[in-house]
Amino acid sequence: MDYQKLLEDIYSQVLPLAGEGKVADYIPALAKVSPDHFGMCLNNVDGEVFAIKDADVRFSIQSISKVFALAMCLAVKGETLWKRVGKEPSGTAFNSLVQLEVEHGIPRNPFINAGALVLADIMLTSFENPEEEFLAFVRELCGSETVGYNDEVALSERETGFLNAAIVNLLKYHKNIECDVERVLRFYFQMCSVEMNCMELAKAFLAFADHGGDFRHAGIELTRSQIKRMNAIMQTCGFYDEAGEFSYLVGLPGKSGVGGGIAAIHPHRYAVAVWSPRLNSKGNSVMGMKALEILTTETSESIF
Ligand code: GLU
Repeated sequence: MDYQKLLEDIYSQVLPLAGEGKVADYIPALAKVSPDHFGMCLNNVDGEVFAIKDADVRFSIQSISKVFALAMCLAVKGETLWKRVGKEPSGTAFNSLVQLEVEHGIPRNPFINAGALVLADIMLTSFENPEEEFLAFVRELCGSETVGYNDEVALSERETGFLNAAIVNLLKYHKNIECDVERVLRFYFQMCSVEMNCMELAKAFLAFADHGGDFRHAGIELTRSQIKRMNAIMQTCGFYDEAGEFSYLVGLPGKSGVGGGIAAIHPHRYAVAVWSPRLNSKGNSVMGMKALEILTTETSESIF
């Protein structure tokens, strides 16, 4: 498969969509991002890397960070993790409060905000230096020591993150948060603020695609079976309230973020990352989602 040519082809096919959708502006620092970027990178399990356009430009990974947080929590808690967070698609927006109230403080899954806030709490109680250890883990996965937090984005989100503050308070009311709510919020926003480019994201996700052997990175160990299960959650819960549509059109497990990034995997074949900041009404990158749809359509291969 000539992936380089395919990526270039994909770019020319998604170009007519440039201008569709809207950059996330509810986090003031994110609204400053130039909307017209497009980058894509595919790493196959044979170690080949194919990249186009802005694949080397870093952006805010936002909710894609929830995958890394889940890996760390699953490694320390194992199956007991699921006592505090579910693994069902939510069918509501990523920042919804409603379901949480009805279900007495047990978030539907780790990839909605409520679930990821519980992950943040678990990490705060399980790791001595959670900020450093999270970053060390991400850096080792992507092979880059310069990947880091963007404090301006984290702070900007804290100043306007009233809904997330409400969610964490509701979780605390239901006794599903151990730490101080302010500490949990700050750590959660910090994780969301990590900046990576498509090349780094594709490399990092290769660890989830290539689960033929042991997963051991920066002290985090997961079995093949745990990686398989993480991929299942990415498939069913990774794309906001559009996981069904994403499964139908693309058919790969992955995770998107409101920074416009999407990382996805074809188990045992490749990891792919795409970035374009304009989002559709569900919060997924318009050009990014189309690019992945074309990738699995042109190759006639997805996990299905
Ligand atoms: N930090 C963002 C929030 O909590 C992440 C949203 C996302 O990328 O889904 O609203």
